[in-house]
Amino acid sequence: MAKVESFTLDHTKVKAPYVRLITEEHGTKGDLISNYDLRLVQPNENAIPTAGLHTIEHLLAGLLRDRLDGVIDCSPFGCRTGFHLITWGQHSTTEVAKALKGSLDEIANKTTWEDVQGTDIYSCGNYRDHSLFSAKEWSKKILDEGISDEPFERHVI
Ligand SMILES: [Zn+2]
Repeated sequence: MAKVESFTLDHTKVKAPYVRLITEEHGTKGDLISNYDLRLVQPNENAIPTAGLHTIEHLLAGLLRDRLDGVIDCSPFGCRTGFHLITWGQHSTTEVAKALKGSLDEIANKTTWEDVQGTDIYSCGNYRDHSLFSAKEWSKKILDEGISDEPFERHVI
């Protein structure tokens, strides 16, 4: 089976919350795609409950695109400790961390239920499993800890 970089990361050595560049993938026609690890909580110590994580996912889909060029996808890890972010082109982890910080700040302090896209039976695969309260409380916790642009040392932006 193909070796996947994410599974070679020593999850006991990282210091969340952080942004980490996982890989840059070069396409055959010169395209460049970047894959980031947006780690919101400490692996094997914490995990964001599914309803809050689900609402954060729906909100980051729009908020990150407002702040960062070339966003392709932002999807939660199965372990519920963070998200993969896939973008066209290159961005520094500092730039990504700033976009994430701004997005979480908007969730924590400004977002109302009307701002959450895709929360009905037509537009979501599990629309009953959302919590803006949880999304806000976890966003506040992450912001209080600060987002580092390095995974192994705390370098909070
Ligand atoms: Zn959904």
